Amino acid sequence: MSTEREYECIVIGAGVQGSFTAYQLAQRNKKTLLLEQFVLPHSRGSSHGQTRIIRKAYEQDFYTHIMEECYELWAQLEREAGVKLYRQTGLLVMGPENSQSYQLFKDTLQRNKVPMVILNRDNFSQHIPHVNLAEGDGAVVDITAGVLYADRALKTVQGQFQKLGGVIRDKEKVTDIKPGPVVTVSTSAGVYRAKSVVITAGPWANRLLAHTGLQLPLKVVKINVCYWREKVPGSYNVKQRFPCFLLTEGKESKMHIYGLPSNEYPGLVKICYHAGAETDPDQRDRQTDRSDIDILQRYIGRCLPGLIPEPAVVESCMYTLTPDHHFVLDCHPVYSNIVFGAGFSGHGFKFGPIIGKLLCELSLGEVPSYDLSPFRIRRFQAKTKSAL
Ligand SMILES: Cc1cc2nc3c(=O)[nH]c(=O)nc-3n(C[C@H](O)[C@H](O)[C@H](O)COP(=O)(O)OP(=O)(O)OC[C@H]3O[C@@H](n4cnc5c(N)ncnc54)[C@H](O)[C@@H]3O)c2cc1C
Repeated sequence: MSTEREYECIVIGAGVQGSFTAYQLAQRNKKTLLLEQFVLPHSRGSSHGQTRIIRKAYEQDFYTHIMEECYELWAQLEREAGVKLYRQTGLLVMGPENSQSYQLFKDTLQRNKVPMVILNRDNFSQHIPHVNLAEGDGAVVDITAGVLYADRALKTVQGQFQKLGGVIRDKEKVTDIKPGPVVTVSTSAGVYRAKSVVITAGPWANRLLAHTGLQLPLKVVKINVCYWREKVPGSYNVKQRFPCFLLTEGKESKMHIYGLPSNEYPGLVKICYHAGAETDPDQRDRQTDRSDIDILQRYIGRCLPGLIPEPAVVESCMYTLTPDHHFVLDCHPVYSNIVFGAGFSGHGFKFGPIIGKLLCELSLGEVPSYDLSPFRIRRFQAKTKSAL
């Protein structure tokens, strides 16, 4: 086999997690191949689109802790590439004052001394015009939060990976993985070998893991990415300092609703429901459920009077959910040189740089920089084939 087909590490899937993992490996001078089934860039996985929210506001301390370093890594990439990837806007968290979820967000921010502002009913509309704070709701702003330019970030990290000598092969679908001390990876175009393999296949994770005899309890759902038109252009614009927002629960639903200021599409505000209907990732557009849009329309009609409660643009994206909505970052229970990052449950983008670092460490057999116990597969009692 030619040396072009032999690598220290092969990363499967060039979404945000695979791209950052490959970049981290290349930074460590590892000869790395990044494989992607579609022609790049594409809009058929989970990492495409103009924007994502970045925040320290979480219900669990471990995410807030990891975000500390993650912000630095995003800034480092911006400096290295000379590209702006982040815009600070703040994140307004709203929810029933006496609910567990809202209190957890608020407590985590306070306990971790994240710069924040607590708003009350008297000063709310002065700080956040054009939003009705529901009766009984509290409001707190995570000042550190903002918007990541997602498509630009992917292009940037892939470009930096290539500058470091990394190889990307797109339009090469992985069709087989043969575990062993040296792993053999077959694609639609060839066969490659590597000391270790990282699987970051997003909604297709279980299809890839099946080649290694492992299946995770993952559910893939389609998200309707909705943009809503401002009645008065500019009212919810990023330049007017309108923040990102997250409603922990409301009259319409127990699930989160989140939004970003109008920016990427002038006059349109992105507001989505943090849940969707199950789908096959290869048949995403056959899923036509719009019950989430009904919920959003009712919420917008009630609380965002400056928006027309009819979506102006609807795009599609997918979440890969775990039962507890925490990520999966682990080594294969039988083949320690096969590592995977999966189940990012609709909130993994902001963590890309740190996920890349952690998966790189796992694939090199190093002790990871953070305690990965919330992300290990033993919490699921993952099913492995007895044949292994
Ligand atoms: C609407 C929406 C809004 C979101 N908002 C936020 C947010 O505000 N903040 C945040 O932090 N996160 C957010 N997320 C979540 C975040 O975008 C995802 O967690 C993240 O993009 C997951 O990345 P990934 O690399 O795991 O998956 P993907 O981006 O899907 O990448 C997996 C890649 O693997 C490739 N692949 C699969 N199978 C094969 C194969 N056999 N051979 C080769 N390649 C293969 C796929 O084609 C794909 O490119 C949001 C997600 C959605 C859908």
